[in-house]
Amino acid sequence: MTGYIAPLRLRLDAGALISNWRWLAERSGAAACGAAIKADGYGLGAAAVMRRLASAGCRDFFVSNWGEAAELEPLLEDGMTLSVLHGVREEDMAQALSSRARPVLCTAAQVARWRAANGGPCDLIVDTGMNRLGLDWRGEVATLAANLNLVTLLSHLASADEDTALNALQLSRFRAIVATVPAQRYSLANSAGICLGPDYAFDVTRPGLALYGGIASLVAVPHIRQVVWPQAQILQRRRLLEGDTIGYNATFRATRDHEVAILNLGYADGYLRAFSGRGVARSDGTPLPVLGRVSMDLMAVDVSERPDLSEGDWIDIAYDLREASAQSGLSQYELLTGLGRRYDRIWA
Ligand SMILES: *Cc1c(COP(=O)(O)O)cnc(C)c1O
Repeated sequence: MTGYIAPLRLRLDAGALISNWRWLAERSGAAACGAAIKADGYGLGAAAVMRRLASAGCRDFFVSNWGEAAELEPLLEDGMTLSVLHGVREEDMAQALSSRARPVLCTAAQVARWRAANGGPCDLIVDTGMNRLGLDWRGEVATLAANLNLVTLLSHLASADEDTALNALQLSRFRAIVATVPAQRYSLANSAGICLGPDYAFDVTRPGLALYGGIASLVAVPHIRQVVWPQAQILQRRRLLEGDTIGYNATFRATRDHEVAILNLGYADGYLRAFSGRGVARSDGTPLPVLGRVSMDLMAVDVSERPDLSEGDWIDIAYDLREASAQSGLSQYELLTGLGRRYDRIWA
């Protein structure tokens, strides 16, 4: 649809993305700072994110599966790496063997599959207590890893965004693995892990959320900038009289007259019904509260304070991730990855 201008858009702040990466890189100390760009770069667009971070000096990228890797492999330049966090299924082998991306092997069966195929350089993930993906830290990791051409050995923190004993426990388990399993590099920390301090950094860090403006730790608050700024166009302006209701199931009833703007944005765009009656839009600093229930493609905001706003005007949707998370009960991750396909994504 060339030339089509969508009635909703994400303003994406490239300067903020790069500034966030630079801060995380600095906090990573001597470790290289990579980037998790799975789930289409947390909803921003993986290729666009990868290009911008590469230009800032980021070299190590992480996606979940080989569908994501296929889209990004053409962007790999000398010295850049792309790791596929879910490893290789049988169905992935043909692609993986001819790819410049490499698998993060997760299970004994994946290790056997990769070794039998003489797969070449690979990463390996060890589970140290999250009990999600990876070889069990209590198992024969060194034996399983023997003779692999192991580039990066990873583990992943379950609760790095909390002050909990599990962090130190995972760290000590990972150190024991590092001492017994040879690899070129070791990697443990996600965004929140980077904020836990230099002990967690090892050789490569893997931030995701914080790159995109998410706050995973209070330490990060003064340094991490908002990257994603949703905007929607007014489709209709109308008057709501005292006693009128608005939206599905009439959940808002006016106790006075209101002026209302109907915006071209809804839960199919990731602005979920949890924002009904709670979310806020903004225009030049004026808060415009969401009235009634968010529909699939539409929502209503109160513009009583702003007689100047009319059909066709663009409205900002307040999307500070911590505030929006508190309003909606959705995680900062969900707020980003749910944003959907209908926005024009405009980098500035
Ligand atoms: C998603 C993911 C990351 C990034 O985590 P954030 O919390 O978004 O920083 C890092 N490592 C692994 C293995 C992941 O799955």
